[in-house]
Amino acid sequence: MACKWAFYRFFLTLKAARRTTLNVGVIEGATASGTAALFDIARRTARDEMNFDQGEPATQVPATAISPLAWRQLWMVWALSAMARTRAMNTSFCSKCRAALLARLIEEFPNMKSHILKWKHGKTAPFLHAFDDNAPTQLDILIPEQQKRQMVGDFYIIPGGERFQEQQAEWEIAAQSPFVVLANHTFTHAGATSAAQLEPELARCSDAIRALTPAQKWPRILGFGRPGGVPWTISDEENDRLLNQFHLAQRPRFRNPHKPEKSTAQTTTELLAIVDEALRDGEVGQIGFHGVGGDWLLTPLECFHALLDKLEAHREEIWFTDAASWHKYQTERDAAKLKILQEDEQQIRLQLCCETDSIFYDLPLSVEIEVPQNWTKCVVRQGASEFGGVAQKGTLRLEMSPVPGEFVLTPAI
Ligand SMILES: [Zn+2]
Repeated sequence: MACKWAFYRFFLTLKAARRTTLNVGVIEGATASGTAALFDIARRTARDEMNFDQGEPATQVPATAISPLAWRQLWMVWALSAMARTRAMNTSFCSKCRAALLARLIEEFPNMKSHILKWKHGKTAPFLHAFDDNAPTQLDILIPEQQKRQMVGDFYIIPGGERFQEQQAEWEIAAQSPFVVLANHTFTHAGATSAAQLEPELARCSDAIRALTPAQKWPRILGFGRPGGVPWTISDEENDRLLNQFHLAQRPRFRNPHKPEKSTAQTTTELLAIVDEALRDGEVGQIGFHGVGGDWLLTPLECFHALLDKLEAHREEIWFTDAASWHKYQTERDAAKLKILQEDEQQIRLQLCCETDSIFYDLPLSVEIEVPQNWTKCVVRQGASEFGGVAQKGTLRLEMSPVPGEFVLTPAI
């Protein structure tokens, strides 16, 4: 750990900047993603050892219109001042918390000027729609509605089933839509009592999806939803090994505060609560459906419309995506680091380190970099490629391919 005197100088500098930082956060912040990002960092730092809900001054600042970067700076200033108070009053932070917090701050500080956003485009939370078992109402009612609203859905199909085979031509057409993402639900929905049973079930379903989407790249990661209501006694190790072998991303657990054991939520209150919870926690939300407005395990049409209206109202905060993209972004982000190598008034040189395999993990990462205030338009050079970016109030947001290497930012002339 760094010399404690260096740490105190660092603290004094930030203390002097505290008032300014608060004002900058409130006045200049650009996007609304505030509290979730703040509390996420706080939670990850010390888990439940500290009660950040009682914190100050972060909770006194309006949670709107503050960029994640501003929140980050604000939180650091607050945490440092809280630690200093602790030293003086010998209260509230145990030594273990203080060590964890300090380690985290030292790790974060060099990256304050550039960071990978928690979710794509700086959105508060990703949201997934999971439509299972190729129920016919999905083709008739759901897909047209998703297209109209421009919201993506994961369709967990059973290509070996009779129902799918009867409607295969319609699914082939539907799969051409950018809002329809086909995902693996096994070939016949028979369950898995052994690896020998599961392996061909996964392989044949993925092969069918590949054949239904000839225009999409292959190999690629597909979402995976385990079929319900059938025996699934294969060991977790065997299950995970096969998912890895076939590049399948397990969809997230269903979050339903009212019915934690059930994947299909059915009342409007239940559906809307899932959206609220995802936005509050800044974590993925997902709702599972079978039939909508018909078929079985039915979600009534008016509930579905109420849900889409609610999602629509929060469009600015929600990343509408599919299970494979959610998995890719999260995996890439956790395995990547963005470092400033050198900066001056003429250029900023950065390095992106990624540990993921770019054949499969190919979703661009959203990054934010602080640039001098007078750089409104910037040029980004990465290897042989060059593209432009527009900075707002000294913050440049870019979509970077998750490929390791250096890149250079300069102001556009
Ligand atoms: Zn199913």
